[in-house]
Amino acid sequence: MKIAVASGKGGTGKTTVSVNLYNTIGKYFDENVRLVDCDVEEPNDAIFFHNPILNSKKEVHQLIPEIDVEVCTFCKKCVEWCEFNAITIIKNLEFAEINPDLCHSCGACSVACEFGAITEHPQPLGVISHFQTEYGKGLIEGRLEIGSAMQTMLIKEVKKEVAGENSSIIIFDAPPGTSCPVVETVSDADYIILVTEPTPFGLHDLKITVELLKDLQKPFGVIVNKSGLGSNDIYNYLEVNNIELLGNIPFSIEYAANYASGNILNNIPVKFETTYREIAEKLIIKSSL
Ligand code: SF4
Ligand code: SF4
Repeated sequence: MKIAVASGKGGTGKTTVSVNLYNTIGKYFDENVRLVDCDVEEPNDAIFFHNPILNSKKEVHQLIPEIDVEVCTFCKKCVEWCEFNAITIIKNLEFAEINPDLCHSCGACSVACEFGAITEHPQPLGVISHFQTEYGKGLIEGRLEIGSAMQTMLIKEVKKEVAGENSSIIIFDAPPGTSCPVVETVSDADYIILVTEPTPFGLHDLKITVELLKDLQKPFGVIVNKSGLGSNDIYNYLEVNNIELLGNIPFSIEYAANYASGNILNNIPVKFETTYREIAEKLIIKSSL
């Protein structure tokens, strides 16, 4: 079962939930669980594990085309074929250029060009690392090259690392928000956990994410983090819309201090551990259905 953990905004505790659920399942239920950090712009799952062992690390590249203006006839066929408006051709000026920030490395322009004016060159996209952790099968992390805007492309590459893997549960920690990288992360998940907080901002962003998942026709449930703060509006919304509440994680200053020091897996309060075990049980039941 592939489970994506998402949230409409940053700071709701999505990473905390991903890491704790992974650890809880690996420790108490099933060693055959995998964690995948798809928040490639700012991956930070690894810092919550104590001395995770780096097993492997590889650079991932994307092919960026380049136009040789000495060969180019400025016919603009490549412009017509490019769906991402990445190519600029100005015949009068004999100008031909590809914007690497817009290019999705689809290769269409190279196929379109009948004059052999386009060649493709590898450019760094990011790094994929595999870490061994105390419990579970380990963490896979994607880290985007600084300056690259191709989060979605790297997330696709990260997901290939677990394609065909026989893990019983794979947890994808999605980027925050509702943009393309989130859609890519949740697109082939069997179930989505939405993490929110009981504040007006939390409710606002939750509603947007719920609409996205309804459009994608994905089953989902909600974890309310920092419960006890704010109002009951979020619970009323879940009830009225018949959305499953998977669990409440209470607000705790002590735990917030643990988080700030990257120490969320040690000295976890009993009430938190109980909550995570209950949520893990629900997920394991869903995975066996
Ligand atoms: S298709 Fe080839 S020849 Fe035509 S404009 Fe593009 S690069 Fe130049
Ligand atoms: S590889 Fe694809 S996205 Fe990039 S410039 Fe060529 S056609 Fe456009």
